[in-house]
Amino acid sequence: MTLIFSDSTVQPNLPHYKTQDGVYRDPSNNGRIVSPTLMWIEALDLMFQKLSKSNLDFSKISAVSGSGQQHGSVYWKIGSSKILSSLDHKKPLLEQLENAFSIKESPIWMDCSTTAECRAIENAFGGGALELAKVTGSRAYERFTGPQIKKIFDHQPDIYNNTERISLVSSFMASLFIGAYAAIDHSDGAGMNLMDIKAKAWSKVALEATAPDLESKLGNLAPAYGVAGKIASYFVERYHFNKDCLVIQWSGDNPNSVAGLTLNIPGDLAISLGTSDTVFMITKDPNPGLEGHVFPSPVDAEGYMVMLCYKNGSLTREDVRNSYAEKSWDVFNKLLQQTQPLNGGKLGFYYKDHEILPPLPVGYHRYVIENFSGALDGMKEQEVKEFDPPSEVRGVIEGQFLSMRAHAERFGMPSPPKRIIATGGASANDSILNAIASIFGCDVYTVQRQDSASLGAAVRAAHGWLCNKKGGYLPISNMYMDKLEKTSLSCKLSVNAGDQELVSKYGALMKKRTEIENRLVQKLGRC
Ligand code: ADP
Repeated sequence: MTLIFSDSTVQPNLPHYKTQDGVYRDPSNNGRIVSPTLMWIEALDLMFQKLSKSNLDFSKISAVSGSGQQHGSVYWKIGSSKILSSLDHKKPLLEQLENAFSIKESPIWMDCSTTAECRAIENAFGGGALELAKVTGSRAYERFTGPQIKKIFDHQPDIYNNTERISLVSSFMASLFIGAYAAIDHSDGAGMNLMDIKAKAWSKVALEATAPDLESKLGNLAPAYGVAGKIASYFVERYHFNKDCLVIQWSGDNPNSVAGLTLNIPGDLAISLGTSDTVFMITKDPNPGLEGHVFPSPVDAEGYMVMLCYKNGSLTREDVRNSYAEKSWDVFNKLLQQTQPLNGGKLGFYYKDHEILPPLPVGYHRYVIENFSGALDGMKEQEVKEFDPPSEVRGVIEGQFLSMRAHAERFGMPSPPKRIIATGGASANDSILNAIASIFGCDVYTVQRQDSASLGAAVRAAHGWLCNKKGGYLPISNMYMDKLEKTSLSCKLSVNAGDQELVSKYGALMKKRTEIENRLVQKLGRC
């Protein structure tokens, strides 16, 4: 069973917090975005209240896990471990934990108020941003937990000193379930700029650059498939859980999505085509750099997941659709089909918003490769103002997937990948899926369920339970591989062996695109 309590359900159910979409945005527009910590506790109370009125038999649940929004952090006041371990089952959680936090408003993933702290942490590493990325999997990002903790220590040292434990949203929820402080799991922990992703241990340099005595406040790290503890007596007595029910480490929403999408094998790639676009891939040998993020896999003890984020996703495709395809996906698809793969050597860069990958400002750039024949040696490109409408449509689609292929290959993605799983709103579009298959040269699957993070948490609960039963880590593929592939993914094969020549032509076009992209970044890039 999967339970979903998302930002969109918080607002109508808990209006007294007066959040907007579950968050408070600082009115002074300084980038500070937080959520009330107690709202999450009340949401849990409310969820259990609703569940206990259903027919659910809590005593049949063998293991519980969950998914928390990545990067967000919770600050437990000195003395709160005692409150947590002696919860009275006759009272709701909220009533007992009202005074358990040194900070009542948790910084969350949308916060971007810590630029100064990011630079300071990067500077503490000899080689700056790149060196920090090599150790922790990412350069410093404003939303990451380390810069958020540094800001609290620098500006509110009394509050920092009055904190005995800092949890992530995920380990905070696991703590409620076990009635004690739960460890931070390796996958979510990599979203903090504090963990050495290869050693799976706190990085001393990062800790020192962030705040004093931090290690004792963070506690231990643990694998995502590990047992956080047995369910607290509070839940046994109040809701009649079995006292042997295991709480498996909770993790972040991104790692859980990887588990829910069944990305388990090196060479697996997922492309999420939502408001923004995200690429997830699995590798044994990550190569973290200035772009993207590397986290230990939540379901493979030796594997890593790479995440690439593009701000210009569906909204930019919509912009091109509105300008050149009569505001209709049907017309857009017809125009896409009218044009030939490779777009006759026309390459487009479409940034309706400031892009993260590559770091380029708003602007559309178009190039035509002269005398394009599919081989690029010695061929020059020429910048043009606009393409004809069908080429604009193909330009925005091919441009995005060539960029994804180039950046994923830089991270060590095998070419071709083993398979691609497409999700998000635009994955409903078969013409787009065909373009993905042609550019990457592999089968493209789509998922039947969109809530991959909550599904992933449920899958991990079963995985952790099984590992515990067998006395150690067990590859998750043993658990379900064949069955799950058949039941939860529908295959959309659109490239066969005959098209491999086209894939290699796309490879050449991708190199040209990367060359132009690098020049644009040098000329216009923000970092
Ligand atoms: P979110 O990131 O907000 O969860 P979704 O995954 O729901 O977003 O995707 C929404 C986007 O999907 C919309 O912005 C829309 O442009 C895009 N979309 C919906 N249908 C199609 C389609 N047939 N072709 C291309 N894009 C589509």
